[in-house]
Amino acid sequence: MKDRTLLMIPGPVEVEPAVLAAHAAPPTSHLEPRFIEAFSRALVGLRGLFGAADGQPFVLAGTGTLAMDSAAANLVEPGDAVMVVNTGYFGDRFGAIFERYGAQVGHVRAAVGDRPEAAGLRAALSTATGPVKLVAITHVDTSTGVLTDVPGLARVAREHGALVVVDGVCSIGGEALHMNDDGVDLALTASQKAVGLPPGLALLMAGPRAMEAFRARRTPAGSFYSDWANWLPIMEAYEAHRPAYFGTPAVNLVWALDASLALILRERMTVRWARHQRLAKACRAGLAALGLGQVPVRAEIAANTMSAPRLPAGVSAQDLLPRVADAGATLAGGLHASARSEYFRIGHMGACGLGEVLATLGALETGLAACGYAFERGAGVKAAAAAGG
Ligand SMILES: *Cc1c(COP(=O)(O)O)cnc(C)c1O
Repeated sequence: MKDRTLLMIPGPVEVEPAVLAAHAAPPTSHLEPRFIEAFSRALVGLRGLFGAADGQPFVLAGTGTLAMDSAAANLVEPGDAVMVVNTGYFGDRFGAIFERYGAQVGHVRAAVGDRPEAAGLRAALSTATGPVKLVAITHVDTSTGVLTDVPGLARVAREHGALVVVDGVCSIGGEALHMNDDGVDLALTASQKAVGLPPGLALLMAGPRAMEAFRARRTPAGSFYSDWANWLPIMEAYEAHRPAYFGTPAVNLVWALDASLALILRERMTVRWARHQRLAKACRAGLAALGLGQVPVRAEIAANTMSAPRLPAGVSAQDLLPRVADAGATLAGGLHASARSEYFRIGHMGACGLGEVLATLGALETGLAACGYAFERGAGVKAAAAAGG
């Protein structure tokens, strides 16, 4: 479309027309039979998205941070020990949230752009002073573009009797994650990333061990809004085709979720993950051909939903990104506190195909040329087309 720039940031993302149409319809009552059916379908569909046949879904009006907050409020009690596998900004945030609910939080860290492996987590859990109740893993830290090894980390966490909680806000729907197969007890995301909706929904899937830990609480959840004791009867009712009320559901977003899950499950999760892998490969082949490095220190640990390219010497994000936007693609600046000015970020998740990646690299080339960076024009687009075809 001629007056539109592509939204290629790590959320919000481009949205499929069918999802936009569902979102744009006049609001319905949350008690209307058609809405109850859509909500019920969406709750069932979420089990397919998360790979959790035995999971309990929660759909809350809010952002990904609310999903993190809800996980912490319901799973930890004051004094519980939590270990965060930290690959950047959102690991720090998760740690701060757990602390707010009274947990004793430890972090397993790596250098910026690297990741802790299962052995590092094992060492941290083995030397902890007491039992660790919960291990939190950021699947893709959006501040670094680093992808963690969820199955490997989860195995170690469960060996130590800990619950496995995955922040999948920048991954679920784009990166391979199957809660049942991977040994994950709770995973969470938000509507505006690889699930492909506008922002506004927090989505959680709690497996049996997470629900058991919730039911075994000695104290009520530390947040009234997030308390699963309030939301569980609502989710169970809607799934069973009955209306219920605790807080007004974001009806338009639930309609959009129903529409997006229909598209996602029709594509099939394994096909969708493979598409994101192809797009990431194409994007990074293009960036490499332009001479740009990556924040992730090895190709094997780079995310498939986004890329975090390093800026060339002499080019700042403040100079580059407006020029790229003028040329047709909105990209994001850096986020990690200790490297913020050194890189920028490209989202390639959700309603995204090779065409969007090629258009983005074309816009990036225009921006880089306008900044005076010397490179062979067209090399990025050409390499990406070759790698992604
Ligand atoms: C975006 C993001 C969040 C926060 O989501 P909001 O919707 O902005 O609150 C948390 N974790 C990760 C990994 C994210 O990418």
